[in-house]
Amino acid sequence: MQTTTQAMSAGNGLTWEAVKSCFQQYVVPSYGRFDLCLTRGRGAWVWDVEGRQYLDLGAGIAVCSLGHAHPELAEALAEQARTLVHVSNLYYHPWQGRLAERLTHLIAPGKVFFANSGAEANEGLYKLARRFGHEEGRFEIITAVNSFHGRTLAGIAATGQDKVKKGFGPSVPGFRHVPFNDLQAVKEAISPATVAVLIEGVQGEGGITPATPDYLLGLRRLCDENRLLLMMDGVQCGYFRTGRFQSFQRILEGISDAEGFLPDAISMAKSLAGGMPMGAFWVRQPYADLLGPGSHATTFGGTPLACAAALKVLDIVERDHLADNARATGDWMKQQLEKLAARFPQWIKSVRGLGFMLGFELADKAEIPAFAAADKPASLQMVQRLHEAGVLTIPSGNQVVRLLPPLNLTQEEAALGIGRIGAVVEKLGC
Ligand SMILES: *Cc1c(COP(=O)(O)O)cnc(C)c1O
Repeated sequence: MQTTTQAMSAGNGLTWEAVKSCFQQYVVPSYGRFDLCLTRGRGAWVWDVEGRQYLDLGAGIAVCSLGHAHPELAEALAEQARTLVHVSNLYYHPWQGRLAERLTHLIAPGKVFFANSGAEANEGLYKLARRFGHEEGRFEIITAVNSFHGRTLAGIAATGQDKVKKGFGPSVPGFRHVPFNDLQAVKEAISPATVAVLIEGVQGEGGITPATPDYLLGLRRLCDENRLLLMMDGVQCGYFRTGRFQSFQRILEGISDAEGFLPDAISMAKSLAGGMPMGAFWVRQPYADLLGPGSHATTFGGTPLACAAALKVLDIVERDHLADNARATGDWMKQQLEKLAARFPQWIKSVRGLGFMLGFELADKAEIPAFAAADKPASLQMVQRLHEAGVLTIPSGNQVVRLLPPLNLTQEEAALGIGRIGAVVEKLGC
């Protein structure tokens, strides 16, 4: 029998069965995976091992900001690989500083630390907050119920969902959860030990729930009154997905008194380098030098290859006006989903989100004839049906299906995706 490696290198004879059995034997089974093996992509399209084509409305999980195999990004990666892939943070290199400058200009004066993932970017925020409160013995960070901040030990402690914590106690101390969009709950949770508040601008894993303008403005006021850092996790909702660089910029558009709003620190990752692993956090003045030499580090953070990729992605996003595309095409998709929900209110309970960060909430599986007999939650069954219809989407909990398409998804592709989703929803009655 041929091994997977042989089949892959031969470029033929690669079968779904061979890939799956290799995983079963050698890969830690920590992920619930769909029975789908992807082997190549181009733009918003990916192909599976059997040659079937899918419209990718998940883009990884909001990672492939330019879709797959973007020729200019591929060329930039190849060029950088021929020049300098990695140097340690014992030295300077041009790309890291340049990227920090570009990201800072998209937010406000401050500085950037580079890491490799969202969880790690958030770890930086926890350490920043603890440093900030250290001399006064303050360390507690308030986060939201249904939040998601990553899978490290502190990440699962910060995350406001029990399912990520189960079996991994004792929990890292210093996190307190309060209901999202509830200012009074934050006020009541503040203690002499509190040092920061951390929220997502739009909760992603929690089911696509945007913060309200009043909540954001109220949090800023509360944090100022109590000398707390206001930190935002922009790992999923950031990077132009909502139509602006950061989600709060979109949420607060046109709101009076909101011009001066600024969090103290923002974490980023997912879309940042178009698929290359990269995380980062931005921190504003006067806190930008809190983490001094020797206080925080990571071997791979801000490596030339990832920085060059991120710079190229940013060039293309700006040149091709992809933030505007995310807003216009995404908001159009939302309208179409709302029409679908109006036609089938018994199965689609709500449509939420902004730009290219959308979710539709399904009824309980017992209420959906096509799903009632199977064990799996409605979201998973829906995502699976959509696979059969040639569309990739992302489940969020038991009821919500997310759309997080590449920022360069075209109007035609969006219409095609919406058509396929509609066709699947129409058949849920049998
Ligand atoms: C995905 C995600 C993370 C974790 O990022 P990883 O790269 O998986 O560590 C943290 N916060 C939010 C909001 C996310 O969506």
